[in-house]
Amino acid sequence: MSAVSQPRPSSAFITVDPDRNGKQVGFIMIPHSPHDDAWGVTRVPVAVIKNGDGPTVVLEGGNHGDEYEGPITICDMIRDLDPGRIQGRLILMPANNVHAVVAGQRTSPVDGLNFNRTFPGDPRGTITQQIAAYVADHIYPLADAFIDLHSGGSSLDIIPSAIIEPTTDPELHRRNIAAVQAFDAPMTVVISNLGEPRTATAAACRSGLVTVGSEMGGGGTVSLEALEVCRRGVYNVLAHLGVLPSDNIMPRRNDGQLFELPGTAAYVFATADGIFEPFHPNGTAVRAGEPAGRIHCTWDPTRAPETLHYAADGILYGRRQPGRVRPGNCCLVVAAPYRGALS
Ligand code: CA
Repeated sequence: MSAVSQPRPSSAFITVDPDRNGKQVGFIMIPHSPHDDAWGVTRVPVAVIKNGDGPTVVLEGGNHGDEYEGPITICDMIRDLDPGRIQGRLILMPANNVHAVVAGQRTSPVDGLNFNRTFPGDPRGTITQQIAAYVADHIYPLADAFIDLHSGGSSLDIIPSAIIEPTTDPELHRRNIAAVQAFDAPMTVVISNLGEPRTATAAACRSGLVTVGSEMGGGGTVSLEALEVCRRGVYNVLAHLGVLPSDNIMPRRNDGQLFELPGTAAYVFATADGIFEPFHPNGTAVRAGEPAGRIHCTWDPTRAPETLHYAADGILYGRRQPGRVRPGNCCLVVAAPYRGALS
């Protein structure tokens, strides 16, 4: 359990009892008062599966509403997991930014916010800020570990991977690496989001939770390969954490090599308005300075295509999905061998 101060005052409430044994499915209810519903609520789905004493693990999906393998995995677990199979407690949250999930969009159509840039939230803020505040103030303090299941979303296709959130606590860093390695995804990558502190995983680390992230495919689709990686990875991590028996751990497939996104050099951004033509598929070994793709201005053939270049040596880890780009769009992402501390 993490050391947490008193939660901030909030009008949100929950319809399940986190302390009760068995399986309960309900909602976090956040009063929401738009034009057509003066005294209504936004319902954020939450299930609790508890059996006696043991670690508490929170599973999050729908942080972004257009990333699907994690939410499907979590909903399957809510239906299929018998409480007698686990030791401890699972708090299963398949659709945390629920308005974004219903819309199938990255960000909430209610307030326009990216849930993963709102932590620790604000219990008197907009709906997205209030959901983040409830998670930070009322869910994290119940937990020992946090699994945040992302995919590439509509704009990116990413190699299915398990993600390590950097933390300044060396002991937590060591435990995070072990838990993320247990996921056993095709790649394991340290991602700091350039030091961004407002993500769910950064906030979970600050709360002292063992934290596991994922990036599963993307492109706004449900990838068969990524869904299998996701299901297998979640069960592996739960067995690693002791919530499921150790015989749930599958034989290892990953060689254990760690990658990282090497700062700003990881990203290849569009420099022109046009159509992006990538030169390589995901998984290609690339070099800094090597041509990465071209941006064509097909509506003005007097303009020569503009060539983009990689800025880091490594593996092509993610690619933009829509061909249409504007200056500043992220076209490509390169992952490099991890050079940081292992503990
Ligand atoms: Ca995401």
